[in-house]
Amino acid sequence: MTSEQTFVIVGAGLAGAKAAETLRAEGFAGRLVLIGAEAERPYERPPLSKEYLRGEVGREQVYVHDEGFYAEHDIELQLGRTAVSLNTSIGYVGLDDGKGLRYDRLLVTTGAEPRRLEVPGVELDGILYLRNVEDSDVLRERLDRGGSVVVIGAGWIGAEVAASARQRGLEVTVVDPASVPLERALGSEVGAIYRDIHTDHGVQMLMGTGVAAFEGTTAVGRVRTGDGRVLGCDFVVIGVGVQPRTQLALQGGLYVDDGILVDEHLQTSKPGVYAAGDVATTHYPFYGQRVRVEHWYNALHQGPVAARNMLGRSDVYDRVPYFFSDQYDVGMEYAGLARRWDRVVVRGDPATREFIAFWLAGDRVLAGMNVNVSDVTNPIQELISTRVAVDDRRLADLDVRLEDLAPVAEASAA
Ligand SMILES: Cc1cc2nc3c(=O)[nH]c(=O)nc-3n(C[C@H](O)[C@H](O)[C@H](O)COP(=O)(O)OP(=O)(O)OC[C@H]3O[C@@H](n4cnc5c(N)ncnc54)[C@H](O)[C@@H]3O)c2cc1C
Repeated sequence: MTSEQTFVIVGAGLAGAKAAETLRAEGFAGRLVLIGAEAERPYERPPLSKEYLRGEVGREQVYVHDEGFYAEHDIELQLGRTAVSLNTSIGYVGLDDGKGLRYDRLLVTTGAEPRRLEVPGVELDGILYLRNVEDSDVLRERLDRGGSVVVIGAGWIGAEVAASARQRGLEVTVVDPASVPLERALGSEVGAIYRDIHTDHGVQMLMGTGVAAFEGTTAVGRVRTGDGRVLGCDFVVIGVGVQPRTQLALQGGLYVDDGILVDEHLQTSKPGVYAAGDVATTHYPFYGQRVRVEHWYNALHQGPVAARNMLGRSDVYDRVPYFFSDQYDVGMEYAGLARRWDRVVVRGDPATREFIAFWLAGDRVLAGMNVNVSDVTNPIQELISTRVAVDDRRLADLDVRLEDLAPVAEASAA
């Protein structure tokens, strides 16, 4: 490595910012350029559906780094710039202003964007999506005005927006074809607990039906559902999942399947080109397969691993997937990956909103979710990563410490 080298990071979100920070911390002395399509320096997105959306914290509290950080560390932050072309044979990224950059190593952290819904009337005013801080500002202003909102989609974003809108006193209806909220991630049994939490807070949960059309003259005023209901509203928020931003990678000939395919070192199909965060579909040695994780913890930790490997190391990214969500006074953390399971074992009483749910296959724990129970992420991750055989009764028994179920108890969580 020489100080004449240029490392370019495309995507100034959390993964890109943490990678830039790590490169300097690890002693990279060359030119370091961080390119971001947004006008803002890197910020954290989780508050955008929670405390920032509700007006409880301001803009300064969501940034990843202080304003002076990038200049102090000689990181060239090019904001409001989109990378539009990639030539990996010569190591060149083209930008939307017609200029471009030669690179010696490239990291793609272009993240994800909301999936768009295609139904009649979707172009009406007052139909909102949430990904960026500006989206959150627009939505916050709507919450300030009050009234009623229909939230389309009962995934994480939809559920959190519904909770924040209720907390701000709006009338909230959630519409989703699934049988319960968060069904894809948590299954019907645990999803039903979240349905009850929202219902208890006065949200109308219209499950098992989708949107047929949005109606109104210039602005949306009604949502027509697939089962024939007509819901009056002042505005609509759509949260029907995200898709990875892979346009640049595809243009540059990187292998893409859903996200950008990377190995356990976060290297793409092209030497010297790495990807991390929401956009990366990563090979996990532990799972023996590629997985794309769309959560904060993954962006936080993949950025630094990619950075170290850009510097010639061969670190492996193999952290147990982890995410969190806050809705009303219900805080949860989820560790692991459960796509198919035999059964769910619950420790504690869900009615008290303080419990841990475990997803199991055979006698192994695939995933665990602690709700309003703190400091258990490490032992839950240990149960998963050690693949220890567990007994359902002991797992559910509040008198048996989780640490006593896992053979090793080394810290591995954030
Ligand atoms: C409202 C909201 C709430 C969330 N809450 C939680 C939560 O509670 N818990 C949790 O675990 N996760 C949460 N997440 C998910 C988490 O924020 C993401 O996993 C994380 O932001 C991913 O970071 P990233 O750096 O990979 O991508 P992003 O944050 O998407 O950043 C990518 C950046 O790259 C830029 N970009 C894209 N293409 C180009 C290009 N060609 N040229 C230049 N720049 C480009 C984009 O504009 C963007 O700024 C939430 C997400 C949202 C939107």
